[in-house]
Amino acid sequence: MDVNDWLDDQGAPEADWTRVVLQRAMSGQLGDGGEGVLLDMLALTQPHACRPHLCTPGMRGPSDRSCCADLEVSVADEEVDVIEEALPEIAAAMHADPRWADGVPVWNDDGALVRHSDPGSRRKRCVFAESTPDGLRCVLHRLELQTDREPGELKPLPCRLFPLALVAMGDGSVLVTAIHKKTARDLASRPARVFPCLSKDAPPLYESERDVIESVLGAEVYDAIVVAANA
Ligand code: SF4
Repeated sequence: MDVNDWLDDQGAPEADWTRVVLQRAMSGQLGDGGEGVLLDMLALTQPHACRPHLCTPGMRGPSDRSCCADLEVSVADEEVDVIEEALPEIAAAMHADPRWADGVPVWNDDGALVRHSDPGSRRKRCVFAESTPDGLRCVLHRLELQTDREPGELKPLPCRLFPLALVAMGDGSVLVTAIHKKTARDLASRPARVFPCLSKDAPPLYESERDVIESVLGAEVYDAIVVAANA
């Protein structure tokens, strides 16, 4: 889905984002991504590595949380339509998942992804999250790879971006930020400390999410982040 259409449709949680931008500017942590793109370098340079074996219910510490099991994910109308159309394929791909044994489960509630638990379990996860020995895996992402679809043809934009986030500022500019201890509340997220992917001994977030940044925002935005990070 086009990122500008998504921003028009979804936006970001209500928060005083002007305050956030001013704080970053005053601390020298506001980067210029060009063409109305603002870079929250405090969030974009934090350590990040996807570690599904550390955040999956049943495999994680008591206070750890994950994007696919715990966060509320809103999907735009266009994203709902695309997934609806692919449901027969998705159901076939999820045939081994007990939650899909009786057919397609309820998968969205008024535009938010639904979480279900396996029969006899209280551990919920997104209806599209497969349980594997290595942790949760997104079946929409797997199907994109297996069917030569473009990245994002099935997987909703917030899922592709996590822990990155886009905020449409009132003046037409867009702030590229991420879940961080200073932004989690503004993004209506759980605190950053509960996500094992946001912990030390990892490369900077902008490096680990380079493919997504280039695919969603363009290579020039990624290059601007690198310049700002090394300034
Ligand atoms: S759609 Fe995929 S990435 Fe998004 S929450 Fe569900 S399993 Fe995770």
